[in-house]
Amino acid sequence: MTVLMGQMMNMPLTVSSLIRHAARHAGDVEIVSRRCEGDIHRSNWAEVHERARQLAQALEALAVRPGERVATLAWNGHRHVEIYYGVSGSGRICHTINPRLFPEQIEWIANDAEDAVLMGHRGEMPASTSVPDLLCFDDLLARHDGRYDWPELDEQTAATLCYTSGTTGNPKGALYSHRSIVLHSYGAALPDAMNCSTRDVILPIVPMFHVNAWGLPYTAAMTGAKLVMPGPFLDGASLYDLFESEKVTFSAGVPTVWLGLLNHMKANGLKFSTFKRTVIGGSACPPAMMKSLQQDYGIEVIHAWGMTELSPLGTLSKLQSKHEGLPAERKQRLLQSQGRVIFGIDMAIIDDEGRSLPWDGTSAGNLVVRGPWVISSYFKSKDSPLVSVDGEPGWFPTGDVAAIDADGFMFITDRSKDVIKSGGEWISSIELENIAIAHPSVHEAAVIACRHPKWDERPLLVVVPKPGATVSREELLRFFDGKIAKWQIPDDVAIVAELPHTATGKLQKLRLREQFRDHVLPTAG
Ligand code: AMP
Repeated sequence: MTVLMGQMMNMPLTVSSLIRHAARHAGDVEIVSRRCEGDIHRSNWAEVHERARQLAQALEALAVRPGERVATLAWNGHRHVEIYYGVSGSGRICHTINPRLFPEQIEWIANDAEDAVLMGHRGEMPASTSVPDLLCFDDLLARHDGRYDWPELDEQTAATLCYTSGTTGNPKGALYSHRSIVLHSYGAALPDAMNCSTRDVILPIVPMFHVNAWGLPYTAAMTGAKLVMPGPFLDGASLYDLFESEKVTFSAGVPTVWLGLLNHMKANGLKFSTFKRTVIGGSACPPAMMKSLQQDYGIEVIHAWGMTELSPLGTLSKLQSKHEGLPAERKQRLLQSQGRVIFGIDMAIIDDEGRSLPWDGTSAGNLVVRGPWVISSYFKSKDSPLVSVDGEPGWFPTGDVAAIDADGFMFITDRSKDVIKSGGEWISSIELENIAIAHPSVHEAAVIACRHPKWDERPLLVVVPKPGATVSREELLRFFDGKIAKWQIPDDVAIVAELPHTATGKLQKLRLREQFRDHVLPTAG
């Protein structure tokens, strides 16, 4: 077949084009940071562009070659934004590492990535140090004049590297390209996604080491929005203070951080004056939290699903106009789903033989995705993780189990390894957790599979009560009556002081399962 080619410019989609645009068209729009030093620092897109170019010159002077990895161990702040743009824009790879990991994990990841440089926060420079080649970031930049032209890179060039949280086995690297980052930014900014504009004041609570803060430092530059960076201060009081003083309109974070903020606001009778909408994702948003944000504070909650391998956004829960007339409860059920795909992401649910399942809202299967911001393989790995759907190759298996309804609303029912397999039937741990967390005395809840002689596995509910509250096993089990089929109600309850979390705030079910490996269910006898 002969085809006629379009006659349009072939401009590569690059990270440097984002910062150049922001500096030119929203140069005086602020980047406000609460720094590790404790002070509030005010910068803007023009200044970030200037300092990113100084950093590019500094990397040149330090002989860091294109393609080499520059690691960060840093919180959300203006210097981290400068590093994002200076490193990727100049053809190096920005490798964000989570500072909350154990030292051995950081060492493993930095060695695997073969990082050439490591940039981190440290208040003042020490007078003497045993660290070889230690440099002060601000001094380093001050040595250069910022007169630097961004190189013309192939848009498929690698730009950033982020390792999965590795709840099973060693972490694996997702290596994003300039093209994937720019396309993800377009997708993220769409009205039915994060709906970002130059009138927004965005406070990413999600850290910049957790999948590029869900792309917000790029989306903010693309749209010319103001950025407010909270540093390491993610407690309720510090966050509330920033939301109010900087007139934040939009935010994004995992459910755990909202717990702290909401508790602080409830305890002190506080309200938001400018904050209007938020994206919550990374793990399922508890219905009680969504309701409280919506009804007590008038916040639009956009529930999102994604993963490191997806840059991370895949789906977001927004209603279509035909849903407006639905009864409140049915609307809420859709908003509570993981939502519909952004253009760019294609999804399917498949059975264990790779056959696609119908979008009927009830058939649950393994969720697979594909798209220009989905990984095709892991960093340094030659094996393809991809699978086929109805014989067609090229789909990424997410490890999540989901159902999809006729309108394309996706409902995650579990991680494939967390689902409870009771006598051949699957029980969703998330569904049980959502019921438990609605109990007034429950602070946090997790449901895991426990070995059972007859049914293989049965659910065990592990609960952390609210401070000062007491609750009994019997009362909690009764709470499930009428809310779920009888055979799905947990067999037992364990009350604990705290649950294990990963460094990004996700429940570590693997550790919890280890902790309760020898637990004997009362129904096992
Ligand atoms: P990570 O790569 O660390 O961001 O983890 C990705 C995983 O987090 C997904 O595969 C899901 O299991 C889980 N996840 C992310 N968002 C949600 C959500 N809204 N609801 C339920 N699970 C989620």
